[in-house]
Amino acid sequence: MSTARKNKRGLLIVLSSPSGGGKTTIAHELLRKDKNVVRSISCTTRKPRAGEKNGKDYFFVTVAKFKAMAAKKSFLEWAKVHQNFYGTPGHWVESQLNKGKDVLFVIDVQGGKIIKHKVADALLVFIQPPSFKVLKQRLLGRQSEDAEALKVRLSDARGEIKEGKHYDYRVINDRLSHAVAEVRKIVKNERKSRLKARLKGAVK
Ligand code: ADP
Ligand code: 5GP
Repeated sequence: MSTARKNKRGLLIVLSSPSGGGKTTIAHELLRKDKNVVRSISCTTRKPRAGEKNGKDYFFVTVAKFKAMAAKKSFLEWAKVHQNFYGTPGHWVESQLNKGKDVLFVIDVQGGKIIKHKVADALLVFIQPPSFKVLKQRLLGRQSEDAEALKVRLSDARGEIKEGKHYDYRVINDRLSHAVAEVRKIVKNERKSRLKARLKGAVK
């Protein structure tokens, strides 16, 4: 790979949080404000929520189709989260990184762990709710889950918050504008320091 191309390589950014932590909202703002960031669209076997569109929010697939894709190694990572399957299609990601685009993954902590293992220079940011009480309020306020799904997500949340301790950065999502600004600052600083490190490597 030429030096110019190598220096242009984009950043792989992982945003995780417990369900209701605000990662989708923050990702949306980051994508709106930073045109170098593109979002990786996952496949899921979960049913679409009201307003969600196939190919925009997720690729909604059957369990059989998902399993066939996993068998063909089509996913960079996949996991069973809150009783549904979710996976990141790999082919598209590499082409975007090579074009210099930063690729954003809005995935759970199991997926984050796998990505970090596979892509050592991935940037992992954990979005932390200010408290468990606030997390519950936000999840209830979103009105997207039935009582059973809500129970599963809340009981999974404590373990997910523990896993967040292994992330490169943790951002508390109290005031949304502050959390978005903090994530943007992390991305900008990481771009700078990685470019510096690559240029240093190139002139050695
Ligand atoms: P996740 O994608 O992590 O499950 P969402 O982004 O869907 O979480 O956020 C859960 C709910 O909380 C949404 O209704 C969203 O509008 C709301 N929310 C997110 N961040 C904040 C915040 N900082 N203050 C108040 N409400 C928020
Ligand atoms: P939701 O059903 O709320 O959209 O997502 C449930 C959880 O699955 C969230 O933590 C979300 O980030 C995660 N998720 C979405 N896509 C993927 C993926 O491709 N891989 C993994 N590991 N988790 C995902």
